[in-house]
Amino acid sequence: MLKIQPYSYHNHTVFSDGHNTLEEMVAAAKKIGFTEMGVSDHLIVHKNMKRDVSWPMLRGCDAPHVYNDDFKSILDAYKYHCEHIRRVARKENFKLYVGFEVDYFPYDGWLEEFKWFVSQLDYDYLQTGNHFFCEENCTDIINMTFFKKVCPDTSLYKEYVRRHFEVMRQAVETGMFKFLAHIDYVRKYGPEVYDIDDFAAEKDRIIDALLRTGTAMEISTKGLRKIGDFYPDDKLITKAADKGVTFIVSDDAHKTEELGADFDKAEAVLAKHHITKILKF
Ligand SMILES: [Zn+2]
Ligand SMILES: [Zn+2]
Repeated sequence: MLKIQPYSYHNHTVFSDGHNTLEEMVAAAKKIGFTEMGVSDHLIVHKNMKRDVSWPMLRGCDAPHVYNDDFKSILDAYKYHCEHIRRVARKENFKLYVGFEVDYFPYDGWLEEFKWFVSQLDYDYLQTGNHFFCEENCTDIINMTFFKKVCPDTSLYKEYVRRHFEVMRQAVETGMFKFLAHIDYVRKYGPEVYDIDDFAAEKDRIIDALLRTGTAMEISTKGLRKIGDFYPDDKLITKAADKGVTFIVSDDAHKTEELGADFDKAEAVLAKHHITKILKF
């Protein structure tokens, strides 16, 4: 079934907000014919995470290291997680890559701390995917999921999204990430937050940064599950493909049933756009 890309590098386990254990995900990956898999649980550390107005809503969900305000305090948990993936790969005789989906925050000092943190880990790759809107200078953040609840002033939405695209570009510019996840994920919040024709210049700059740094753009089938269309929309895929960007298809699986979901449809998109540059570790 999966001719072009029988693997996925964007998957979650119970280590972050996934529903299944790593062992269950590996068993499912083998079953659907994946030849290898990347495990990329979240890494989201912001010094003022607990000042986020949606923090009381975040606190209850997921493991405590998923949303954190201090790199040092979560180091042991992440080290153990990396070792765990290596162990399972050996035991199951299946190629697993250790990755992380990183929310990039451009406030002073974040990048240095982040670089120190990952230098302590036995990992293979990083991908960037932002799930928070930033206030000016990113010293404060708001989780996108709860954004509308805590920010009823619709006149502010576009500015947050403009900043969001800018943050993604800055992340790509570091050259530290193998691919950019769900570039237009904000579509799921509706056209008053983001419409596909918004921020063309910002998106062009991201595409240029992807090309300059050799970072791939994700085509995510998660969009099909959320809004009935891929992330990114077809216009944005066309633009990036025409400029020669490398792509990667992702399922962004948070449970076993989502592994490889709609990859046949994604492969049809790759074929339609004559995309041949596909990320492969
Ligand atoms: Zn994500
Ligand atoms: Zn994800």
